[in-house]
Formats: sequence, structure tokens, C-alpha cells
Amino acid sequence: MSELKCTDVVENIMNYIDQELDQTTLFTLEKHLEMCPECKSFVDTYKRMLSLSGNLKNQIFVTTDIRKRLKNLLKTKIKPH
Ligand SMILES: [Zn+2]
Repeated sequence: MSELKCTDVVENIMNYIDQELDQTTLFTLEKHLEMCPECKSFVDTYKRMLSLSGNLKNQIFVTTDIRKRLKNLLKTKIKPH
């Protein structure tokens, strides 16, 4: 099993939140979160942001466009280890 990079976490964050990851990816991602405070706080922030919208599954709030912009923003902020 290969290690995830921070950029992979960013790539998969939406599916992770939506709980649409397969078991293997989910496991590797959570393992990365345990070792990487940066990604952990990123996920926490993202979850908090979504819960503020009132619904984790609120697909209307998190439009494709918002997801894309958020991803791009995060890619510039998180550097691969
Ligand atoms: Zn990381």
C-alpha cells in the first residue's frame, strides 16, 4: 500500500467528507491524518465549514465550482512532505 501525500488528501477530501471512499483509500487517508497535523487541521476546518452550512451532505452549498476553487486554493497552501 502506498503512502498518501498531502496533495492526495486534498484530492480526496470531498469524497472523504461525503464518505464515498473505498476502504483502502479511507484507511490510508486516515492514517495520513494521524501523522500529519496540517492535513488534520485542514480536514477539521473543512468539516466545520460544512457543518456551518447546516448539512454535511448539502450538495447545493458545496457546488462543483466551490469544490474546484477550494481544491486549487488548498493545493497552493499545502506543500507535499
Ligand atoms: Zn498531510
